[in-house]
Amino acid sequence: MISIEKMKRIFNSVNDRGYEATARIENLTHNTVSDYIRRYKQYMNETVLSDNPTITLFDIETDFMKNATWGLWKQNIHIGQILESWSMICWAAEDLLTGEKNSGAVTPEESLLRNDEAITFKLWNLMDKSDVIIAHNLLKFDRKKMNTCFLKYGLGQPSPYQMIDTLQIARSNFSFPSNKLDYLAQELGHPMKHDTGFKLWRECDGVDAIEETEIMTMGDKIIKTTTYNKNIIETAIEKMDLYCQNDVSVLKNVYLDIRGWDKRHPNLAGYGESNDGKCCICRSTNLVPATTDYRTPVSVYKTYTCQNCGTHNHSRFAEKRSKQLLRGCAR
Ligand SMILES: [Zn+2]
Repeated sequence: MISIEKMKRIFNSVNDRGYEATARIENLTHNTVSDYIRRYKQYMNETVLSDNPTITLFDIETDFMKNATWGLWKQNIHIGQILESWSMICWAAEDLLTGEKNSGAVTPEESLLRNDEAITFKLWNLMDKSDVIIAHNLLKFDRKKMNTCFLKYGLGQPSPYQMIDTLQIARSNFSFPSNKLDYLAQELGHPMKHDTGFKLWRECDGVDAIEETEIMTMGDKIIKTTTYNKNIIETAIEKMDLYCQNDVSVLKNVYLDIRGWDKRHPNLAGYGESNDGKCCICRSTNLVPATTDYRTPVSVYKTYTCQNCGTHNHSRFAEKRSKQLLRGCAR
């Protein structure tokens, strides 16, 4: 077993003196020195990677519900009028730190049956290994939708993760005329979402891909056969999948622009062994002392501004904490 210390010593020696001198000093062959370097780089890569949290940006697209109604306005739909519930058409995700992309979409056959079991399993696995998840309207839409699917297929809860909702960040900190992701992207000068219309959902569902419907009576049975144009459904799902993947890119751009303002952002500096001196939002070590301190009613903390995301971090321990300081009475 080669010790980490020895690998590090040889790595540093090669950097300082070169291969030949290191091989001579350490009494090793050139190949052995190369082997030490390779192993040390591998060790460093694994250490650095395991130090980082898995931060997953994602988006989900769902199919519409089918309800029976007798009119268009002010409909109060009873549960008996629900003919078909919603289902998931596709999801897309990107690892914020590695850029690794992932997605899942139903097949045309699954879409017609509204069977999202296979893509739900895949999404569950991704969520299970995520430390932090990010989506636009995560708390009210994406998380509830995926949880419903997880429950439906008996998957249970994924391992704990922390949540970042870009809609909440926008609502809490800014006053844009609209907090829709597309509008935020436009205002911040980023590429916008792909154009889609309701027709795309109709095609994914198959209602716009019907070629023929036949009715046959066999004894006391009536058989209704519908023939669909597979190409229409397949093309629509592919388009929806690309739309969803593009949404994740838009989400990433918007998140990176507004994350520094988020006062409820999970503290990402807490992940890994070497967490000292890292920004609590983006984990950058590029911090400079801020002009003013951070003050609570009884304590004063040193403040550091992150040059990468712009957020202000404060030291964990107070600079001053006066025992004689008086405070106003709460009651
Ligand atoms: Zn930062």
